[in-house]
Amino acid sequence: MKNTLAYKPKNVWGTLSAAQRKELDALSTRYIDFLSSCKTERETVAYVCERLVRAGYSEDFKKKSIFRSLRGKCVFAARRGKNTLSKGLALIAAHADTPRLDFKQRPLIEQPGVAQAKTHYYGGIRKYQWLARPLALHGIIVREDGKKLPVTLGENPGEPVFCIADLLPHLAQKQGTQTINEAFEGEKLNLILAHSPAPEAKNKHTNGEIKEPVKQHLLSLLHKKYGIHEEDLITAELQAVPAGAARFVGMDQSLVGGYGQDDRICVFTALEALLNAKSGPQNIAVIFWDREETGSDGATGAASRFFQYCVEDMTRCWMHGASVSQVFLATRALSADVQGAIDPDFQELHEKQNAAQLGHGPCFAKFTGSRGKYGASEADAEFFASLRGLLNAKGIPWQSAELGKVDTGGGGTVALFLAAYGMQVIDLGPALLSMHSPFELASCADLWATLAAYRAFFE
Ligand code: MN
Ligand code: MN
Repeated sequence: MKNTLAYKPKNVWGTLSAAQRKELDALSTRYIDFLSSCKTERETVAYVCERLVRAGYSEDFKKKSIFRSLRGKCVFAARRGKNTLSKGLALIAAHADTPRLDFKQRPLIEQPGVAQAKTHYYGGIRKYQWLARPLALHGIIVREDGKKLPVTLGENPGEPVFCIADLLPHLAQKQGTQTINEAFEGEKLNLILAHSPAPEAKNKHTNGEIKEPVKQHLLSLLHKKYGIHEEDLITAELQAVPAGAARFVGMDQSLVGGYGQDDRICVFTALEALLNAKSGPQNIAVIFWDREETGSDGATGAASRFFQYCVEDMTRCWMHGASVSQVFLATRALSADVQGAIDPDFQELHEKQNAAQLGHGPCFAKFTGSRGKYGASEADAEFFASLRGLLNAKGIPWQSAELGKVDTGGGGTVALFLAAYGMQVIDLGPALLSMHSPFELASCADLWATLAAYRAFFE
């Protein structure tokens, strides 16, 4: 007998029609292209703005479809519905920044045999995952005269990549007895950029006339390629990220593997939802922030006033005289961020009944935070129930989870910054394996179901 009283999350794969399966494959392929070309917050925001412009979005807030970006690192976009703005927005918020290795301000050093860039990691990384693997350079160099030089090096087959060397096992005896934090020091994340000495140093080097011949060679190559001097690096934003394209994973091509899926999978699906949602009563909006991985501080992070300014200007243009606080209070928001899926090899760290399962659809997190729900907002039962009803009505699988066992896991998202405006907000996003690693894994089924859920929310 079918038990209709008990609850069980649905596996998305089992619910798909043949047509949906086709949609899922096409979506996954487009998502892989997006992930492969957008590896920094700047690249992601540029991609979003380009898609918005192509879809007719304007920076003139008097129009019906509008957007605004700040410093090329965060972006707000909205489309007017039939409802008055005082009924609030349906808002999806995600973040475009990802853990990575930033160049230090004075990065270049020469050590025996190599010239390297010193780095300072950004966000939560497991340092050993960045060793002995090809890395690419992404970012910009800005010259004194204001000229911007974009840098993308190490992605095309003809280009070199860069690398942080790892210790050979023969010399890693002591490392084996240390804790991970002792064994892998942030100060040793030095990226190899060059190895051969400047040709003109051939004789002078042995005479000690050129002090750092490999660094000199590197500087001359940088000067040739970008016209820059060492001082230009001080003000540059250069990030080392995993080189290469995202890929399908598995014989059945059921997973996507790639860097930066936290949280670009939500940026991608939220943008698709915004651009493809049928027009209806709701005023719909997205905001994609930067700085989430370091706590959301800064001008382009969720703790800044940028989002508020956008809503104030939008209210002035769309509904002059309306109360902005009313717009905020009436807004319903999804904090679109990823969840940690049950790791098949570390199941003991999850409380499985309240953990996310790969392939079971986007995952609600009623609250985030840690250790007694500290450092988080919490969605109210009324809002959560209304969203559950919406997804059930559309037959979209969903699940509910916390990150790890009580007092074991935890994490934060941008939800609390939206909740501060008094709006209703809950976290909803797909679950990942290997989150924050250079090669995160997402289920294609979850990608598809997340887009379906975001679209349902907008429509
Ligand atoms: Mn995230
Ligand atoms: Mn994260």
